[in-house]
Amino acid sequence: MQEATTETTAGRLAHVQAEIAAAAKIARRSPDDVALIAVSKTRHADEIEPLILAGQRRFGENRVHEAAGKWPMLKAAHPDIELHLIGQLQSNKAEEAVALFDAIHSLDRPSLVAALGKAMQSQGRQIPCFVQVNIGAEAQKGGCAVEALPDLLGTAREEGIDIAGLMCLPPANIEPAPFFALLAELAARHGLTGLSMGMSGDFATAIMLGATHIRIGTALFGERGQS
Ligand SMILES: *Cc1c(COP(=O)(O)O)cnc(C)c1O
Repeated sequence: MQEATTETTAGRLAHVQAEIAAAAKIARRSPDDVALIAVSKTRHADEIEPLILAGQRRFGENRVHEAAGKWPMLKAAHPDIELHLIGQLQSNKAEEAVALFDAIHSLDRPSLVAALGKAMQSQGRQIPCFVQVNIGAEAQKGGCAVEALPDLLGTAREEGIDIAGLMCLPPANIEPAPFFALLAELAARHGLTGLSMGMSGDFATAIMLGATHIRIGTALFGERGQS
């Protein structure tokens, strides 16, 4: 039996899955309702492959260019992989993003709605999008302002984009729970069921507050910038 040691990729995956199950149990939710996205930004294909071999199929990248360099090959070898874009997207990369990714978590402005709508139409490919909300109203962060959310959702619906839910990155170094709770409330207010929230340091809290998609890098791959 695979022990939940954190020294191997498979061990770290098992460890994270056990923590997901524990948090879901406390929240009286099914762990199957929490999609684990393994955030593989900055990781080479040879670091990613052990995770694929251990059964992980959902991955996240934050840059189109970087993802385009490693994922077409990995996806060709494992066609059931689901690739999520979790980082900011420039409108001029919308075509490339729609071709490469299976979901986008960073829809945050009307110009991007237009670019994605056009790209999805021209490629005949609908991919679900999460609207990223700047939940802590931080000047340096991406995401649409809370006040701008109703209009942006309206624009996306007019454009025919499939809105899967809302996404946020709460402010660093303070208790994230109130921000997760606010995102959940905003989603409920707009009849949206998807909640992309929670990273390595706070995913248990996010699950207790309703996360349906958690984005985990460090807890699966180790600290960034060592290799
Ligand atoms: C890097 C990143 C994550 C994962 O962060 P970890 O703390 O390494 O788990 C999640 N979401 C976004 C948007 C990221 O850029």
